[in-house]
Amino acid sequence: MNCKICKTKGIKKNAIVNLPSYNLSLCKEHFIEWFERRVQNTIKDFQMFTKEDRILVAVSGGKDSLGLWFVLNKLGYNADGIHIDLGINDYSKKSREYVEEFAKKIERKLYIVDLSTEIASISILKEKIPNKPPCSICGIIKRYYMNKISKKEGYNTLATGHNLDDEISVLFGNILNWNLDYLSKQYPILKEYENIFVRKVKPYCRITEKESALYTFLMGIKYIEQECPLSTGATSLKYKKILGDIEEQFPGTKLRFFNNFLRKFYPLLANKITEENLQRCKICNEPSSLEICAVCNIKMKLAKL
Ligand code: SF4
Ligand code: ZN
Ligand code: ZN
Repeated sequence: MNCKICKTKGIKKNAIVNLPSYNLSLCKEHFIEWFERRVQNTIKDFQMFTKEDRILVAVSGGKDSLGLWFVLNKLGYNADGIHIDLGINDYSKKSREYVEEFAKKIERKLYIVDLSTEIASISILKEKIPNKPPCSICGIIKRYYMNKISKKEGYNTLATGHNLDDEISVLFGNILNWNLDYLSKQYPILKEYENIFVRKVKPYCRITEKESALYTFLMGIKYIEQECPLSTGATSLKYKKILGDIEEQFPGTKLRFFNNFLRKFYPLLANKITEENLQRCKICNEPSSLEICAVCNIKMKLAKL
């Protein structure tokens, strides 16, 4: 298989990747060019941010977030990093090491939030609060600190490495349950809200997991390949597998599913977004739908144990 772009220039060069949904096979050089243009176009199409914005990238240590941090800086954006050390045994230790090493390499500022000192590690929270799924606790805590630190340190945009496969597996689950409230918030950019929420963006929303992994690998970035040990059996992984099987039979389905949701269905829900119950937590002053926010609630629960 030869690179299609090289072919248009009369050059015969082996392709390193085949992208059936675009009917495209590309050599290394043209894949990198294609990938970076795709990220750039996504940022522009959704008006995510400009070169003047201060961006904080949520970096877990995995291929998507480290690749995203790298490409944003390469494209000339002003992007620093934030890592939440979840305290999940060896997995978190290694993840943090990869992130710290990478921050040094690209010479960008990195903020670390260590849950063991801030509240308690996810491993401990899982034991102490057994009636709540650990991923739900983890999600609440991550969102809380990312928003809080972004505001405190003067960043107006928080970027996450959610890729197309992540987005459509969540979308699939939300549609199966007709979860309109979640669907109304599933957009590649969520605008800032007064001085309460920073803008949240997903520049990889049209990049598949495979494309992201290849780019990170080609850029020579070392990342943690191990998945979080608490993710085993997660419904989203099962949905990913189902959607992957469909894509194999009908290339382009993933992208079409996502694009058509944004184009045809999301506008019907978008106007329904309200922040009506939003108030500030009595204890920490962070946004909350109740008098006391979920994180302060967890802290109070722990104190009572
Ligand atoms: Fe947190 Fe791990 Fe669950 Fe992801 S899989 S939400 S990192 S506990
Ligand atoms: Zn080429
Ligand atoms: Zn609070």
